[in-house]
Amino acid sequence: MADYDVDLFVIGGGSGGVRAARIAAGHGAKVMLAEEYRMGGTCVIRGCVPKKLFAYASHVHEEIKDAAGFGWNISPASFNWPRLVANKDKEIARLEAAYTGNAEKAGVQVVKARASFVDAHMLHLSTGQTARAKYVLIATGGTPNHGASIPGIEHVISSDDVFHLPVFPKRIVIQGGGYIALECACIFAGLGADVTLVYRGDNILRGFDDDVRTHVRGEVERAGITVLTGRTVIKVEKHGDAFTAHLSEGASIAADQVLFAIGRRPNIKDLGLEKVGVALNPANGGIVVNGFSQTTVPHIYAVGDVTQRINLTPVAIREGQAFADTVFGKRPVRVDYADISTAVFSQPQVGTVGFTEAEARAQFTHVDIYKTDFRPIKATLSGSQSRVLMKLIVDGMSDRVLGCHIVGPDAAEIVQAVAIAIKMKATKADFDATMALHPTSAEELVTMRAPTRRYVREAAE
Ligand code: FAD
Ligand code: NDP
Repeated sequence: MADYDVDLFVIGGGSGGVRAARIAAGHGAKVMLAEEYRMGGTCVIRGCVPKKLFAYASHVHEEIKDAAGFGWNISPASFNWPRLVANKDKEIARLEAAYTGNAEKAGVQVVKARASFVDAHMLHLSTGQTARAKYVLIATGGTPNHGASIPGIEHVISSDDVFHLPVFPKRIVIQGGGYIALECACIFAGLGADVTLVYRGDNILRGFDDDVRTHVRGEVERAGITVLTGRTVIKVEKHGDAFTAHLSEGASIAADQVLFAIGRRPNIKDLGLEKVGVALNPANGGIVVNGFSQTTVPHIYAVGDVTQRINLTPVAIREGQAFADTVFGKRPVRVDYADISTAVFSQPQVGTVGFTEAEARAQFTHVDIYKTDFRPIKATLSGSQSRVLMKLIVDGMSDRVLGCHIVGPDAAEIVQAVAIAIKMKATKADFDATMALHPTSAEELVTMRAPTRRYVREAAE
């Protein structure tokens, strides 16, 4: 220790960095953490949390629409964007303070500064300080990627901007077909904007189960979102406060904002990685790590989005925890990446865990599909035409439930619970033996008796 100022220097005060710092300090390490922007990182400041708060705001619109069928008269409702933004900011500031407070309470020295490598053990801080560390953890997250430059790219906003727009955009063009594009499309549509989603492929949410993709698209289109597939935004022009998004194939759309949500890239710019020899994955630019989050330089580790493994908050937190337990708790821990549940907080929500149908059919010889698509009980009085999709993927040989996919209200909450059963390798018989909880939508998961489809791969295939 004599040669080092700290046992661990953590770069980045987001989900992964803060967890790692707190746990390492709990194991007795002397820890310094540098955060260049706001403690809490992407999830707290401009990701999961503000997104979820905005999603709640956008759902109110649906509740108001549904109210009449339940006997409520609601006088014309109006929405105040600046009030939503201000209330959200207050909550985010509270969380940011809690992140700093909890890290400091654990004994972590938090420095509000940008950090970069001077050499493999020495960090330079934008405050002018330096620190020599025995171990370094890179937890710098990711940043929006705008893709190849197009004319007018400077007018395009990213998810970092949507949480602070001074004026609510009545018309918005969103490019992308993944998590952020769909979540933002539903938020803005729910809050009353005219939304056009532009996606380059043939259907949104690539990588999700195909039935989910078809169902979600139908639902968001029914809600009034225009989904244009097979094209991209090739130019953006500004006219006063408004914009025109020009699309491949010729069309153009007038908008008050143009948002690109076309993926994120690792935050490694000017970190000095080239000086220390930390290798990057040429395919995605992420920091290369082994199963213990160790980089190609043995005392330097990396967790979270900067490694481009699975870019979700709970994953970054687990990786941070596993790193701290491995290096400072003397208990080697590998993160288990199987059966990670995930949700798209669109309206309706998508909740998913385990294999998609296509993945299961590629890997298993016998696959049974149980699928149901129904109008939930609430819709009988609300008059909503929206439908719920529930789908189970089952290994026809072992009867194990391989995947669960839900599109509908509270899909995320339901799938989090189903994920426990799937992680425990529950069989379809276990699901069937579970008594239904009535009346719920989720009871369908334990009452689907006969497979909708059954696949048996021929031996020669
Ligand atoms: P981050 O949380 O990004 O933290 C990195 C931190 O490092 C940042 O605070 C940054 O300022 C700091 N930093 C960077 N470089 C330096 C430097 N050189 N010196 C000092 N500090 C530095 N995931 C979910 O699981 N559920 C969701 O609902 C969800 N919604 C999302 C919505 C949006 C709009 C976005 C963008 C992401 C969402 N995510 C969601 C993903 C989730 O936010 C990330 O996976 C998670 O935050 C990654 O944590 P991290 O610790 O790797 O990095
Ligand atoms: P995604 O990877 O989810 O989606 C990116 C989308 O942009 C895809 O539809 C992709 O198309 C498209 N795209 C990529 N490059 C281009 C391009 N050059 N031109 C046009 N379209 C392009 O990224 P997001 O930005 O939505 O989110 C980043 C990550 O953050 C997510 O993957 C997820 O890990 C995390 N996140 C999680 C959330 C949650 O848990 N609810 C919410 C928000 C983010 P294609 O499919 O054809 O490649």
